[in-house]
Amino acid sequence: MTSTQQHYYLQQMGITVWQEKTASAVPVDASLRWHDKAEKEWNTLRQEVQACTQCTLCHSRTQTVFGVGNQQADLLIIGEAPGANEDRLGEPFVGRAGQLLDAMLASIDLQRQHVYICNILKCRPPNNRDPAPDEVAKCTPFLERQIALIQPKIILAVGRIAAHYLLGVDTPLSRLRGQRLRFHDHPATLFVTYHPAYLLRNPSDKAKAYQDFQLVQAFLAERAV
Ligand code: URA
Repeated sequence: MTSTQQHYYLQQMGITVWQEKTASAVPVDASLRWHDKAEKEWNTLRQEVQACTQCTLCHSRTQTVFGVGNQQADLLIIGEAPGANEDRLGEPFVGRAGQLLDAMLASIDLQRQHVYICNILKCRPPNNRDPAPDEVAKCTPFLERQIALIQPKIILAVGRIAAHYLLGVDTPLSRLRGQRLRFHDHPATLFVTYHPAYLLRNPSDKAKAYQDFQLVQAFLAERAV
């Protein structure tokens, strides 16, 4: 009879079984502690974003759009700002542009839940106007904290506006594509590609966007342990 079976029968007979506490009986799991800490930081950050009133976009938003996906993703996708659908649903890249983004991810065998998706701005600019520099300046610290928590291997900036704000340049997107770039001092490699909303208007550039996604796939495969 195993000791587990013995304990079971003794307990059934109403006999208390005292067991010496060993290290394995009280596991002190460092990775669990780390996970709890990260979860706390995510919650704090999420609440701060929800409550943010640092710029005027807080008056016109329906809700903040924090981000979605795998909090430990290798690939972080960053767009510019929520649009009308995102503002209504509270999730980035929903609607037609989001469907195209999902299709491009599927082309490299990834699903939305495998990656993390967010925007530079967490609130919708009215009438989908471009983000203003002061709004980006106020919101970027939130993005910085998301990146620090996720620790992605790759950041993919989608669209000219996201690329220009992240890189602090105004180089044409066509010249930024295919380059290994960086956002501030984050170790992740930053790539840029076209915005899916642009691709819906300019479908002839879809092939180039698929090339960009293939580059991302090859880079991830290179760095897979
Ligand atoms: N465009 C963006 O840049 N982000 C979204 O979430 C939706 C559309």
